[in-house]
Amino acid sequence: MSRIQLQGITRRFGPVTAVDDVWLDIADGEFLVLLGPSGCGKSTLLRLIAGLLPPTEGRLWLDDTDLTHVPPQQRDLAMVFQSYALYPHLSVARNIGFPLRARKWPRAEIRAKVAEVAATLGLTALLDRKPKELSGGQRQRVALGRALVRDPGAFLLDEPLSNLDAKLRTGTRAEIAELHRSLGTTMVYVTHDQVEAMTMATRIALLDEGRLAQLGTPSEVYDRPASVFAATFLGSPAMNILDATVRSADGSLAAHGKGIELSLGIDAVLPDRPVRLGVRPEHLTFAPAGGRGIHAVVTAVENLGSEEVVQCLAGEGRIAVRGPRPLGVSAGDAVTLTARPEHLHLFDSASGRRLT
Ligand code: ATP
Repeated sequence: MSRIQLQGITRRFGPVTAVDDVWLDIADGEFLVLLGPSGCGKSTLLRLIAGLLPPTEGRLWLDDTDLTHVPPQQRDLAMVFQSYALYPHLSVARNIGFPLRARKWPRAEIRAKVAEVAATLGLTALLDRKPKELSGGQRQRVALGRALVRDPGAFLLDEPLSNLDAKLRTGTRAEIAELHRSLGTTMVYVTHDQVEAMTMATRIALLDEGRLAQLGTPSEVYDRPASVFAATFLGSPAMNILDATVRSADGSLAAHGKGIELSLGIDAVLPDRPVRLGVRPEHLTFAPAGGRGIHAVVTAVENLGSEEVVQCLAGEGRIAVRGPRPLGVSAGDAVTLTARPEHLHLFDSASGRRLT
């Protein structure tokens, strides 16, 4: 069992609050991704869990053990860094076996365990090589192997794929997800890459300026973002956000703005309220010109291969539409965009919090 609980964890560096009152309950076997933009505090939070930094406030638990003041080497957690941190003069086998030698395991047992882990990671043929004779992806697997030999209660991974090129990232991403499925060990994984978060996480903890902005499964965070920040962080192109006012028309509610009139399938929001209206690019469709919807002009069409992104201007607001190619519009066209009510997101215009 390896349940990790963070209770009001805060870390300040002088005037900077890098991690601000974070409460998290990471279940045994979870793949929790700490996601957020550069500087939001995700690496600091991982280092706090690892024990490489003490918290300024708060408590940290691993199952029933209070870890808050336990040194890192006694935490039963294995950390994998983005820089790999391999010993250049040692072979792959000795790098992987290093934590076991440090624990004075008998040599035969070390050899057997290293062979087992190398087989799991597809490194058997590379055991005699030095790190400099490996590709970036292979080095990352050795770093994983060194964490794996310890059979830790949980793995802590800090942007492990960020030094790999795009193709290798995709492959290694799938390998790590597969490793998690086969081991069933708790993993806490830091990234700023939304694709990694969406594809690997059982839950995403989205951080904004040290605070937990949203916690949920990838689908929950994508489908029901808790704020404009969450809505625009996940998704490519980002969710369109337009200023509008909720009005009552013909007994039903609609969002109105410059050139905008969209029916809202909800009645939980009071009329005459200013809102920020969110709609994802893939949820907008082109309707016959002149009807209800968002009236816009196409400024550019971007070819993504299987799909197209159509950039539009509605008043002063930019709107992106994404869909299968060809969408049948060109730069200069006047268009009307519509979306189903269930695909409209309403946020408070002042705080940015979700309203419904
Ligand atoms: P990145 O994706 O760029 O690595 P991050 O989300 O991991 O960013 P952190 O490295 O955790 O962010 O940093 C969070 C904040 O804390 C930043 O403002 C950073 O400058 C500050 N910070 C981190 N470590 C220290 C330190 N040792 N001393 C002072 N400030 C620090």
